[in-house]
Amino acid sequence: MRLAEIHSSELTSSCLRKVYHRLAGETTGEATTALYRGLVAGRAVELVHQNGFDSDPVETTIVAAADTHKTLAVEGRILSSAVETNSQDIMAEITQVVIAYIERFREMFESCTLIGTEVPCRLTLDGFDYASHIDLMVRDDQNVFGYGKGKLLVFDWKYREQQPSYHYLARNMQFSLYYLMVKKGSIMCEPSAGDMGWVEFGEEPILIWLHLPSLKPYGRKVVSKNDRGVETEYKRGDLRPIRSILHSVEYNSDQDDAIELELRMRAKMIENDIFPLNPDPVSCRICDAEPFCTRFDLPQL
Ligand code: SF4
Repeated sequence: MRLAEIHSSELTSSCLRKVYHRLAGETTGEATTALYRGLVAGRAVELVHQNGFDSDPVETTIVAAADTHKTLAVEGRILSSAVETNSQDIMAEITQVVIAYIERFREMFESCTLIGTEVPCRLTLDGFDYASHIDLMVRDDQNVFGYGKGKLLVFDWKYREQQPSYHYLARNMQFSLYYLMVKKGSIMCEPSAGDMGWVEFGEEPILIWLHLPSLKPYGRKVVSKNDRGVETEYKRGDLRPIRSILHSVEYNSDQDDAIELELRMRAKMIENDIFPLNPDPVSCRICDAEPFCTRFDLPQL
C-alpha cells in the first residue's frame, strides 16, 4: 500500500493491523469516551491560545464540544452511548481542566511567541513523505520553561489516563517525527500565504507532552516529589506539581540516524502491506476495528 503521505498516527499505533483497518475504512466509527474527551479538551485549550487567556472557560468548553461534534460528523463518527450518558460529567471535567490550564500557564505562555496551534508539518526522507499537525508550537523568548532563551518548544496535549514514563518518551515515534520535522522538514506558519507559508526552521526543538488530566487536583492524599524533587505529602484538592503535567524530551542529535531508520522501517512495512496484529487486553476491547479484525476462535454470540 503506497500512501501519498504517511501520517504520524500510522507510525505510532501500537497495533499496525488497526492502521490497516483504518486505511481500508473498516471501523465502526464509534467515538469512545477517551477519544471524545481528548478531542474536546484539545480543542478547548487550542481556543485558549487562539482567543487569549482571558477566555471564559465554560464558554470555551461549550464551543470546543460543538466544534468536536462537527469534526466527528464530517468523519462519519457517532458518539458511543457512554459519551451520550456521561456528557455532562465530561464537560464539567474539561471545564475544570481549562480553568487550571489558564491559571497555571497564562504567565508562561504569554511570555512566549506563539508560532501556531494545529500547525501542519511535513518531512521527506528516502522518497517517503510524512505529514502531521503539531498541537502547539511556541518560541520561549524569556526562557520561562527553562530550556534556553529563544528555544523552540513543541507541545502535544494528551488526555490519557497514565502519565508517560521517560523510558517511553525516549522512544516515542510521534515525538521523534515532530523533532525531525522541525529540524529537517518544514512547518506551515502562515496558511494565508499558501506555499510561501512553509518555513524551514532548521532548529532542534524540545518536545513536551502536556498531560491535561494532571491539571486536575489530587483526588486523595498522595506522597510524591514536588518540583524541587523533594518528597512531599499532598492532600486531596492540592494542585499537582508542574513535573507531573509537563514531560519533556531533549533529543540527542547523534541519534537522528536511528530515528530515520525507524521511520523508514515503518514506511516500508506499510508499503509492503505488513500489518501484523498486536493484540492487547485493553486496546482490543475498545478497538473500533475489532469486528473486522482476524480472530482465531469461534465468535461468541
Ligand atoms: S482488535 Fe486488537 S489486534 Fe485487532 S486491530 Fe484492534 S487492537 Fe489490533
